Amino acid sequence: MGLFSKAEFYTTVNHLRDLPLHGGREVAFAGRSNAGKSSAINTLANQTRLAFTSKTPGRTQHINFFSLGENRFLVDLPGYGYAKVPPDVRAHWEGLLSQYLQTREALCGLVVIMDARHPLKELDERMLEWFASTGKPVHILLTKADKLSRQQATQTLNRVRLHLTQHYPHCSVQLFSSLKKIGLEEAEATIEGWFTIKNAPS
Ligand code: GDP
Repeated sequence: MGLFSKAEFYTTVNHLRDLPLHGGREVAFAGRSNAGKSSAINTLANQTRLAFTSKTPGRTQHINFFSLGENRFLVDLPGYGYAKVPPDVRAHWEGLLSQYLQTREALCGLVVIMDARHPLKELDERMLEWFASTGKPVHILLTKADKLSRQQATQTLNRVRLHLTQHYPHCSVQLFSSLKKIGLEEAEATIEGWFTIKNAPS
């Protein structure tokens, strides 16, 4: 049975004070809206409607928790990068995300979803910066890799990997496709490893 095969909805929160005290460990998924985060979560969990692909800005501010069993949780963070977000909504998002990423003890790793055709946008880098201070691992899924030729995909992977080596040494990266089911085992193995590290660095 895969790590995500028993995933089920646990809770949703909109304020840091409401974060659940579950006593376990969690791995968070972040990404620009439309990058393919919901599709990646659903593909990993082998369920079609676990994480809702929602384009309603009101829903985007929520943090959704899914239980994986054995006191492990997957956390679906609000997508970022909407073109027309009012300043107060954006400020709320920045406060929620940066605080969560920097202070959440239960969090043992961050998965950042990026469209393989447009990786490392400004807000992606901001997420990496917020999290870098924790020393905890980050894994980037360059998704929609099916939209690139093999050569383009390899070039993108190498370019992103070089950038990470220079700026974010705790970060790893791989190609992924929800449509073609590329990279599932690699992603799962990386995340499983985080859950089983004895003491995640803080
Ligand atoms: P989210 O906003 O980050 O949750 O993105 P979604 O998962 O809703 O995906 C945004 C769009 O990209 C949808 O139209 C998906 O069908 C499409 N998409 C997501 N993943 C892939 C993929 O791996 N390959 C292709 N070709 N399309 C994808």
